[in-house]
Amino acid sequence: MKNLFLRALLGCLIAMLAAGATATSLRKVDVEQELGARYLVGDMLTTLPVWPLYQRDAERPDDKPQLRGYAFESIDIEPVRGYSGKPINLFVVTDTEGNYLQVRLVEHREPLFRSEGGTRKIAGFAEQYPGLSVRHHVDIRGPQAATSRDANQAVLHGVQAGTVTARAIDKTMLQSVTTVLALAPEALENHGATAGKRAQRRASDVEVRALGWAQLQSRRMVDTTQLTRAQVEAAFKGTRAAGADSEAALRPDELAIRFDVALVSLPQVGRNLLDDKGWRLVEANLRGGEAILVSDSGPLSDLLRGARGGSLSFTLAQDGKPLKFRQIGYDEGLKLPADLRARHRLFIVDADTPLDVTRAFELKASLQRRYGPFPTMFAEAAFPLDYRFHGWRATLSSWRDSDWFEAWQKRWWEIGLLAGALALLGVVLVRQRRVTASARRLRNVRVPFLLFTLVGIGWTFQGQLSIVNITSSVESLAGGNDLRFLLTDPMTVILWLAVFVSLLVWGRGTFCGWLCPFGALQELVSRLMRAVGVRHRRIRHEWDRRLKWIKYVVLAAIVGSIWAAPSATEILVEVEPFKTAISLYFMRDWPYVAWAVGCLALSVFVYRGYCRYICPLGAALAALNPLRRWGWIPRRDACGQPCQTCRSRCDYQSISKDGKVSYQECFQCLDCVAIWQDDKQCLPLVQEKKRTVIAIVPHKEAA
Ligand code: SF4
Ligand code: SF4
Repeated sequence: MKNLFLRALLGCLIAMLAAGATATSLRKVDVEQELGARYLVGDMLTTLPVWPLYQRDAERPDDKPQLRGYAFESIDIEPVRGYSGKPINLFVVTDTEGNYLQVRLVEHREPLFRSEGGTRKIAGFAEQYPGLSVRHHVDIRGPQAATSRDANQAVLHGVQAGTVTARAIDKTMLQSVTTVLALAPEALENHGATAGKRAQRRASDVEVRALGWAQLQSRRMVDTTQLTRAQVEAAFKGTRAAGADSEAALRPDELAIRFDVALVSLPQVGRNLLDDKGWRLVEANLRGGEAILVSDSGPLSDLLRGARGGSLSFTLAQDGKPLKFRQIGYDEGLKLPADLRARHRLFIVDADTPLDVTRAFELKASLQRRYGPFPTMFAEAAFPLDYRFHGWRATLSSWRDSDWFEAWQKRWWEIGLLAGALALLGVVLVRQRRVTASARRLRNVRVPFLLFTLVGIGWTFQGQLSIVNITSSVESLAGGNDLRFLLTDPMTVILWLAVFVSLLVWGRGTFCGWLCPFGALQELVSRLMRAVGVRHRRIRHEWDRRLKWIKYVVLAAIVGSIWAAPSATEILVEVEPFKTAISLYFMRDWPYVAWAVGCLALSVFVYRGYCRYICPLGAALAALNPLRRWGWIPRRDACGQPCQTCRSRCDYQSISKDGKVSYQECFQCLDCVAIWQDDKQCLPLVQEKKRTVIAIVPHKEAA
């Protein structure tokens, strides 16, 4: 019977694995077919994987075709990673002004949407973009939300359980099109083709809080260094260029040079200081590096660069090491106040000698004064330029402008509730003896918490941790990327943090026993069935011991496939029924639903059967058991010899005959802690009580 059941589960799994998505990469002929007669498709540019699109003027068909837009695959331009950690590939057609003309999903690896229906959902989301442009602020709402759009704003309906995916698509559109618009004209020139009108890159694409000059200064986003004539003169004292400033003796305290420094690659700084053109220039030059703006003004600055023969040069260093940078003169469009005669320079620090803005750096201006009859004779004096917008200030500013910060802001109430629930769980587990003072009290705490885990954390907040989090993280790290893509899902981040802390203190039981929505669903179903008289069976010890290894084999297969057969990983992770049961509310293709229902049915007959024998995530957490610092379950000398009460009552079969707890298999249900202090169940306490009772047996009445 049991074998039959397992075979049925396996059959569902195989059928489910067969349902997959494939993808291809495009050639010019594909693009021509896709666009039909609307455009003449040029050859792919040699320096940018983009096809230029041309049209003939209907009234002057003999004229040269005019550049109208570009077509490209987003994965070649901006590979924004989705929930799986892999980029979503879109075929995008944009005009030269950044209006989206056509968008089609080419390929995705999102685990929730591997079926045809799921892929259709993502494709449907992407198809909302034609008609919008890089200038639109896009707000992604729920799947049923009413959509709207005007010249600046668009409300789109999202994808059920696919918030991270939808946001990744939005980011892909914005970043890929802005990058193409910034780089394609130059690439066209290099390609030898006629450069079209230089397109306007979206200049307001980064939403930042508008700040005035005073606010920028008070936040240290702009730092000012002022040098007086006396200071400058003192710096040249003892050189042959000393005394060149005749005014220094007359007005020593007069401002000689003022420097304003700003790290304009941070949008919060750059968008507030530079106009659209300036910001475009910065973005087009950054290429993963940083940009620093230095403005100088004041009478001596004028003189130095003027007829008396002087100049300014700059050096940049971090931790004592000089950094390479390019200097771009930029003299227009600054929103700087006050001194309109200031001269502005942009320093682009290349990514190959990276500037770490989270740490201090030293920027110095060197004033060079010429002396003597030959133009090559200089005296030099260096001045450090204060700039304190680094470290936590820069980090905080980057956070404020990041996608994930917005995601966290939007979900503040969910985050608050989850944090509250975790705090409550912490109290329950720390005060476990109070909570388990009676079986009833324990049930009154545990059942409502499991309900919250299932309905709140799982179905409402979509906070189901998954082996996909681990595989996508490993793949991302192995590919030389970081884990920032995880940050767009606050629930996942918070829960993983909670898991790491609880792993150190209590082991895997905290997550598996209390915080896993699918685990909670199994337990609630089992309890319900028990209430109507359907009881689960205990598996014989030898079999239980062997079956528990299955989950480690599943885990090893999944992790091994990351290297051995990467395309199989996304199929193997479907062994988890979480997405079907929790993320998609059982609304998925039948093989997935059958598998999830089968796992639940298994748990009716074998308590938490999926968790104990199959779950790769549970296996991964159990494998981390050595990190646990405390054996928190109280034991007595009589545990196991002779008392077997806890062992026989542990539904998870995680207590051995000798009374020892196997923490990697313990689900922290606290039942044994309740038994441990129950003088009607715990044998030593029962005996103790009996002894006490015997001691107070009244004397026989005298005959
Ligand atoms: S074993 Fe798997 S399904 Fe069960 S509670 Fe743990 S993570 Fe959740
Ligand atoms: S009864 Fe079993 S699963 Fe529950 S806390 Fe005790 S050892 Fe762990």
